[in-house]
Amino acid sequence: DSSGDSDSGSKYTVATDNNFVPFESMNEDTGKMEGFDMDLIRAIADEAGFDIDIQSMKFDGVVAGMQSDRFDIGIAGMTITDKRKETIDFSDPYYDAGLIIAVQDGNNDIKSEDDLAGKKVGTRSGTTSEDYLDKNHPDAEVVTFPGIVEAYMDLQSGRVDAVMYDVPNVKYYVNHDAKGKLKTVGDVLQGEQYGIAFPKGSELTPDVNDALQTLIDNGKYDDIYEKWFGE
Ligand code: GLN
Repeated sequence: DSSGDSDSGSKYTVATDNNFVPFESMNEDTGKMEGFDMDLIRAIADEAGFDIDIQSMKFDGVVAGMQSDRFDIGIAGMTITDKRKETIDFSDPYYDAGLIIAVQDGNNDIKSEDDLAGKKVGTRSGTTSEDYLDKNHPDAEVVTFPGIVEAYMDLQSGRVDAVMYDVPNVKYYVNHDAKGKLKTVGDVLQGEQYGIAFPKGSELTPDVNDALQTLIDNGKYDDIYEKWFGE
């Protein structure tokens, strides 16, 4: 039964990224995953009438987990791409993002992506930034990390010259943990949209889309957005 009735009692596994602020990260005080994606998927589950069991892992593990049918739902700031659509289904888009470059605050050398040739550019394995760099910057030395925080650490210590990553994550890091130490440079490089992922052919996709639309219409989506991205 995929009607989504609140008494259906179904429980689904949700794969998420272990650290992609402010979409998902561990709150050490509560021991629970928190963030925009976490509030959104909990609200969707409430609305659609199912229970969820959230499991966090490296980002490339989320993608692989959806491809191999190991989890029912994936929400991890995952960009909808034609390549991924060959092996994964996506919900309607729920967040507009893009890619941007961060450098040390005192860096006057790298002002945009035109200055990346010969530079060490950190990013995260299995992501759209890695694809973007491979495709558009063959002259840069791309260094990939399993977690994006490691890339930011290496940028602060000067082991890499720049980091390329998702705008909301870079901005959050630059304005919080790395305040005064890192800055963004240049334009947003590639428009992207995040979608909730499902194994190919999943019957959950339409129910999740309906619930997402309801939350957009009734203002709950805006409340969650305001909580994590409001000024
Ligand atoms: N949006 C990026 C991608 O899909 C990175 C997501 C993430 O690190 N969680 O590749």
